[in-house]
Amino acid sequence: MHNDRTIRKFTSSGGTVVYKLPVEAFPNHITNCYLVLTDPITLIDAASGQEASNASMLDCFARLREEFGERVALPDVKRLIVTHGHIDHFGGLHFVVEQSGAEIGIHELDMSVVRHFNERLVVSTKNLHIFLERAGVGQEGVAKLLEMNKWSKDLFRARPVDFTFDEGLLSGSPFELYHAPGHCPGQVCIRLDDILFSADHVLSHITPNQSPEFIVRYTGLGHYMSALKKVRAIPGIRVALGGHEDAIDDLAARVDASIAFHDARLEKTLNLCREPVTVAEVSRDLFGERKGYHVLLAFLETGAHMEYLYERGHLAVVNVDEVDVVYNPVLKYQKQ
Ligand SMILES: [Zn+2]
Ligand SMILES: [Zn+2]
Repeated sequence: MHNDRTIRKFTSSGGTVVYKLPVEAFPNHITNCYLVLTDPITLIDAASGQEASNASMLDCFARLREEFGERVALPDVKRLIVTHGHIDHFGGLHFVVEQSGAEIGIHELDMSVVRHFNERLVVSTKNLHIFLERAGVGQEGVAKLLEMNKWSKDLFRARPVDFTFDEGLLSGSPFELYHAPGHCPGQVCIRLDDILFSADHVLSHITPNQSPEFIVRYTGLGHYMSALKKVRAIPGIRVALGGHEDAIDDLAARVDASIAFHDARLEKTLNLCREPVTVAEVSRDLFGERKGYHVLLAFLETGAHMEYLYERGHLAVVNVDEVDVVYNPVLKYQKQ
């Protein structure tokens, strides 16, 4: 991932000042939090909540005062909007609330990730278990990957949120919300005049990881591609500010590149399915031998693309006789 550690100032066409705070959420993993000088003062995202992440956030505020002469500190924040339910964006909300008393809001489809953190992790891991077995990963691999998937389980204490939202104007604010599911169920992009906070939905260099909707509803490539088109159609955006990496000057061009990237990967995936194959086999062909957590990410990314093709009839499961009688069989797909 491309990390930019510079604090940057933006001013919206309506005159609202925004600062990009590059918080080191995990070692060498920068999450951009945005301080928006609205009334009340708003912070978009809270990074991971790890000790070093919280220290990095405080350091960003100190640098902001030094470099820009802005008299603002974390306790001045009164509203925290979380762009989506991933730990590198919401994990720091306890810290932000302790420091500032800010009210926390998140999209209604990600609210329970904060409120029922452990339950969501356990239940989605169960779906992941079924997915990996069907993908043909093998018992030993499945056990290893399931263990890996729980890496975040001790990083967060569940807590309630103060408000939720879906789409449209956020009441008492100048922010307009666009639901952009796919990378995460409750992912939102937030418009402020001619600025779009594009969160992890659109990033300047990479496309965010995809996973099959079979595991968690409202993820999946179908939702993601539709939401890319939706965001591309928002008029009058001068700059998009992502949850990682750099500012995006041409949102439409970046969206087109993201769509083209997935179209190419879909085509490549389909061509790897001329003979009956499993998700695990296609994943190895697409990504080669991966290590550690990247093995899981490769299976999920492949699974999302194969699910997209299957749902649209470009792939079919060809070992139906076996599927008919075995409880959770390995599925073999073939191009149609
Ligand atoms: Zn994310
Ligand atoms: Zn992220």
